[in-house]
Amino acid sequence: MRIVDSPNQDERPAGVEISLVVIHSISLPPGEYGGEHIERLFTNRLDPAAHPYFREVHALRVSSHFLIRRDGEVVQFVPVARRAWHAGESSWRGRSRCNDFSVGIELEGTDDAPFEDAQYEALAVLLMDLRKSVPLRAIAAHSDIAPGRKTDPGPRFDWPRLLADLARPLPL
Ligand SMILES: [Zn+2]
Repeated sequence: MRIVDSPNQDERPAGVEISLVVIHSISLPPGEYGGEHIERLFTNRLDPAAHPYFREVHALRVSSHFLIRRDGEVVQFVPVARRAWHAGESSWRGRSRCNDFSVGIELEGTDDAPFEDAQYEALAVLLMDLRKSVPLRAIAAHSDIAPGRKTDPGPRFDWPRLLADLARPLPL
């Protein structure tokens, strides 16, 4: 796992139990994969002149705990014990401010295209590993916790496959 430190993080509220994983998708520019743009966005170094879309997003102060690239590489931006800024205005089962109690995982991708085998494999390994140290109780889509505002990771994300992967012993 590669570590890239994001300034877009802070303390979780005292005493909060981390119980939720939020699955996202992101690509910069939208629909284009590879390159450094996502890492630059999460470290406040995205060049607004590099693409028209970047003018809209370069000033956002956002992050996630993890990003899973198309080849399955995992990049960590924020320690799990700290709060990453991925969910925005959100609510899960009546509880708002999901950043307080969740782990954010971004998959490099778009809402309307399938994700890669390597991404599902890396995601399953990451979740199994997280469960050793964090009392995770649920996995939600960003669209579940911010309906009407967010649509990621989209209908091409294969939830049955993820759940099957999590139920199966993985090679070490
Ligand atoms: Zn999202």
